Amino acid sequence: MILDYLDGETPSDHHADLCIVGAGPAGIAIARAFAGSHLRVCLIEGGGLSGEERSQSLYDGTSSGPAPFDAGTSRMRVFGGSCTLWGGGCIPLADSDMEPREWVPDSGWPLRYDDLAPWYEKARDFCRIDATHGFGPGAFDGPTPRAPLDLDPEAMANYVFARSPITFGEAYREEMRNAPNITVLLHANALALESNESATVVTGLRIGTPKGRCGRVHARHYVLAAGGIENARILLLSDEVAPQGLGNDRDMVGRYFMDHPSGTLGTVQSATPDRLTRPYERTIGKVRAPLASEIGVAMSAQRRHRVLNGRVHPFAVEGDVPRGIRALRDVRAALRPPTRDEGALLEARLCAAMQNGPAGAVALPQGLAISAIRLGLHIGDVIRAVAQKLGDRPTVHSERVDLVGFFEQAPNRDSRVVLDESRDALGLRKVRVDWRLTDLDRHTWRTVTALTGQRLADACGGHFEAAAWVEDETVPPEVHGTAHHIGSTRMSASPDQGVVDPDGKVHGMANLHVAGSSVFPTGGWAFPTFTLIALSLRLAEQLRDLL
Ligand SMILES: Cc1cc2nc3c(=O)[nH]c(=O)nc-3n(C[C@H](O)[C@H](O)[C@H](O)COP(=O)(O)OP(=O)(O)OC[C@H]3O[C@@H](n4cnc5c(N)ncnc54)[C@H](O)[C@@H]3O)c2cc1C
Repeated sequence: MILDYLDGETPSDHHADLCIVGAGPAGIAIARAFAGSHLRVCLIEGGGLSGEERSQSLYDGTSSGPAPFDAGTSRMRVFGGSCTLWGGGCIPLADSDMEPREWVPDSGWPLRYDDLAPWYEKARDFCRIDATHGFGPGAFDGPTPRAPLDLDPEAMANYVFARSPITFGEAYREEMRNAPNITVLLHANALALESNESATVVTGLRIGTPKGRCGRVHARHYVLAAGGIENARILLLSDEVAPQGLGNDRDMVGRYFMDHPSGTLGTVQSATPDRLTRPYERTIGKVRAPLASEIGVAMSAQRRHRVLNGRVHPFAVEGDVPRGIRALRDVRAALRPPTRDEGALLEARLCAAMQNGPAGAVALPQGLAISAIRLGLHIGDVIRAVAQKLGDRPTVHSERVDLVGFFEQAPNRDSRVVLDESRDALGLRKVRVDWRLTDLDRHTWRTVTALTGQRLADACGGHFEAAAWVEDETVPPEVHGTAHHIGSTRMSASPDQGVVDPDGKVHGMANLHVAGSSVFPTGGWAFPTFTLIALSLRLAEQLRDLL
C-alpha cells in the first residue's frame, strides 16, 4: 500500500519487521523481494510519486573541494530515486575492478565477481533487460547496432553494455501499492536513527516533514537505501548517542567519496568523422538500442601504465545544420505540448544541470508559423536527410569529434561527505561535499589521453589534439561528476577500513544495513546501478533468512 505522510489521517508512528529508508532502485529491489511474505515492510520515501521542488530542495548541499560538486542537482528526491533521470546503462563490474591492484591504494573488495554473478542475473530481470543478453565480468555480450572498431588491444577494448528500458518508480509502483505487507510512506523523511546506549542496536527511526509533522518507525531491522551521499548523511545525523554518528567510531563514514569524473580529453579533426563515431552511437534512428559498445582502457594497459579504469566516448559535434533540418527541429519543439507539470519541469532542470537532458524537453511553442514556412522553403534538406537515414548515415555533417573520458576515481580518504553548518527545511544539517581527486586520477587522464587519442583518430584518418587541461599541469582539470555517488560507506572486511561488512551490515551494529553504491570500495568505470541492484537483491535474501 502507498500512504502519504502529509495526509493527517496517516498514523504518525509505524511498526514493521523491516524498515527501508529510500525508494530508489536499491530500496524498491529490497522491498519487492518481501512482497507477499509474512514480514511487514515499511519503505520510507522522502519524495512524492513525481518530482517536487519542495522535496528536491532537501538535497541541496555545499561543496568545499577543489573540484566543484553539486549535491542538489546530481540526484533526485522522488519515489523511484535518481534513476527517474537515468540513461538505463547497465554493465557488471570486471573481475579486476573488484581485485586489489597494487598501483591503486585502498583498492579491492572483500567480495569477488563470482559472489555477485548469480545476483547480477536477478538484477538483469529486475531491470527488465532481455534474458537473451548474456554477460560476464565487465561486459554484456550480444550484437550492437553497428560493429565496433577493431581497437589496438595493447591500449583499448570494446565493452558492451545493456540498456534497461524502465524507470523503477513507474515500473514497480503498482506492485508496491498492491503488496498487502508493504507500506510505502511518501513524503516521510528519515531524520535520524535512534539507538541503544552502546550505539550497537537501532531502536527506531525518527521521520518527519518540513511542515513539522513527525513520528517514528519501529522495526526489527533497518536498511539505509537513501543514495550514495544521503546514506552517509543519515548516519552522521544520527548522533544522539554516538556524537560522531552511528557506525562512525573510526571516523570512516563519509570518507572515500567518489564519482566517475568526466571531461573532454581532446578533439579529432577528420574529413570522415563518422567512421569513428557511428559504431558507438546508442540509437538506431530515434530508438535506443538494447545493447551498445563503449571503448574501455584494456586491463593490460591499466596494469602496464599503472592507471585506473576508464572509457572514452567519441561524440560527433554537428557542423552547420541545413536550414530545412533546423526548421524541422523548431517545428517539432513548437508542437510539443507546453508543460506546467512540476515533475517534468524539475526533471528538465536537473537534466540540464547534468548536461544530460533532452534539449527543449519542455520548450514552449513559439514561432511555429515561421518555422513551418522555413520548413516548406527548405524541404529538400529534409528529403536528403530521410535518404541518409534510410542508408543508416548521419543526417547532419559532423564538424569534429570530441573524445570524452569517463574514469574510475582513486579511493581517497580525504574525499568526503561531511555535515555543513547550514540547515535544510527539516532543520537538519546539510551535506558538504569535499570531492578530491588525486595524482593517480590526473596520471590516468593524461595517460589514457595519450594512449587513445591519436589511435582513435587513426580510425577515421584524422588528427587528434589534446585539450589544454590534459597537457598542461598548470591548467585546472576540466572534469565534473556524472551522478554516480560511490564509496561514502565503503565495504571492508575489517571495521578499521570501512563502514559496512561484506554483507552491507554496519560494522558494530546488530540490525542496520546499507544498500547502494555508497558501499562500493572501488567503482571501475561501470555505471553503478546494475551492481548496486545485484547487491541489494543479495542483501534482501540474507535479510529474509535473518528475519
Ligand atoms: C541524470 C542521471 C543519469 C544517470 N544515468 C545512469 C545510468 O545510465 N546508469 C547507471 O547505472 N546509473 C545512472 N545514474 C545513477 C543512478 O541514478 C544511481 O546509481 C541510482 O539511482 C542509485 O540508486 P539508489 O537506490 O542507491 O539511490 P537513489 O536512486 O538516489 O534513491 C534514494 C531514494 O532515497 C530517498 N531519500 C533520500 N534521502 C531520504 C531521507 N532522508 N528520507 C527518506 N527518503 C530519502 C530519495 O528520495 C530516493 O528515492 C544516473 C543518475 C543521474 C542523476
